[in-house]
Amino acid sequence: MSEKIKLAIQKSGRLSNDSLKLIQECGINVNNGKGKLTSIAGNFPMEFLFLRDDDIPGYVADGVADLGIVGKNVLLEKGKNIDVVKNLGFSKCRLSLAIPKEKEYTGIKYFDRVSIATSYPKILQEFLDKNNLTADIHEISGSVEIAPNIGLADAICDLVSSGSTLFTNGLKEVEVLMHSEAVLVGSPNMNAAKKEILERLLFRINAVQTGEKNRYILLNAPNDSLDKIISIIPGMKSPTVLPLAIEGWSSVHSVIGEGEFWEVIENLRAEGAQGILVVPIEKMVI
Ligand code: ATP
Ligand code: ZN
Repeated sequence: MSEKIKLAIQKSGRLSNDSLKLIQECGINVNNGKGKLTSIAGNFPMEFLFLRDDDIPGYVADGVADLGIVGKNVLLEKGKNIDVVKNLGFSKCRLSLAIPKEKEYTGIKYFDRVSIATSYPKILQEFLDKNNLTADIHEISGSVEIAPNIGLADAICDLVSSGSTLFTNGLKEVEVLMHSEAVLVGSPNMNAAKKEILERLLFRINAVQTGEKNRYILLNAPNDSLDKIISIIPGMKSPTVLPLAIEGWSSVHSVIGEGEFWEVIENLRAEGAQGILVVPIEKMVI
């Protein structure tokens, strides 16, 4: 049997959909039917393990899985010796300290000798030590945000993205311990065949990510402003310029960064460009 790489992804939760989407965008078929714990890709040498996210760093560290997709927060909390192969840019959130919103926040010393509920005791303890604070850590595995309301703790240390969960529980965020996003982690002990499969996977992930960060732009331009227009949208190598059926006009095609297109469009219009189309790119290989 030829070598396969084993990728551990979260069975169900906030990471699952985006992890599966990334794999599918890489052209890899994944069948995660209900209740399945493992499956094999039909068209790529990859096997999947569907696990709780907390277990993923351990499985990768032990070599049961070669790769895993997990939040940086869980990776840091578990403290396993595995490599971050790639930042994946989704499931962005932060691990923060929050207190009841009616309390006055006086600075970091607020947390000296208070009780704090969290699912991240290791990261929290390191933060307290670094700031010479003593606090009583209550480790709980879920619904941390209700702890102050039920009298279990004075404050919480939990994941935040929009802050709406904190708000509905009468809490306010006062310190950020870390920023997190999903990462691809890998075992440091992969054999040569697995490393080669990983390279193929990374090539595809890069093509997906580069595609997402760029847009394809098409426009019509009067020939006498072509030089200026080309200098605004230089493209990957150089823009494609095709003559239009109307005399004196050309169609220009190029690629621009996702974050810059409004400014680029304004500059193009100022140079006489018309009929500007900006379309998403599915994959991009530079
Ligand atoms: P499991 O059952 O697998 O243990 P869980 O309940 O521990 O799941 P989820 O709530 O699904 O975990 O969160 C998984 C990961 O998603 C978190 O570790 C974090 O990296 C990220 N995450 C958590 N909360 C948010 C959020 N509000 N916004 C974006 N990403 C988040
Ligand atoms: Zn979990």
